[in-house]
Amino acid sequence: MADCLAHYQKQSAQIPTLINLASDGLQAGGMLVQMLPRTAEETYEVEQNQDAGIDDDLWTRLSVLTRTVKAEELTTLDANEILYRLYHEENVVAPDPVALSFGCTCSREKCEMAIEQIGEAEVLDIIDEQGGNFEMDCGFCGEMYKFNKDDVTTIFSE
Ligand SMILES: [Zn+2]
Repeated sequence: MADCLAHYQKQSAQIPTLINLASDGLQAGGMLVQMLPRTAEETYEVEQNQDAGIDDDLWTRLSVLTRTVKAEELTTLDANEILYRLYHEENVVAPDPVALSFGCTCSREKCEMAIEQIGEAEVLDIIDEQGGNFEMDCGFCGEMYKFNKDDVTTIFSE
């Protein structure tokens, strides 16, 4: 899976990317290391042969260090501990952590737009076959949207 993700990054973002994933059956952990493009200012300074403080060896060094992380460390240690163990000789600046929350952009309105694409006759046929409702479930969050004949008639009368 890490290889797939790294391949995708290479194809789409075209910036060097390292991905390490691990799982022990109960917990999973992972890290992604990316070399961000130079800023316009850094590029200018390099072009002018000025000392932009560019560390040409940085990616090589980080790649070697990143490959030393053990699967067990990825699943059991917190992020700061991993950062310290791997890169304590580098100048690491960590942003404040942001809590993750699940979010889905599905809505009844979007389902209505999909129903309009299918067409009224087709949807009404499906409702007959399925015993009174046209059901759409979101593949991401599992939310179920149901439409009966009245709902469909309303959609196509607007
Ligand atoms: Zn959803």
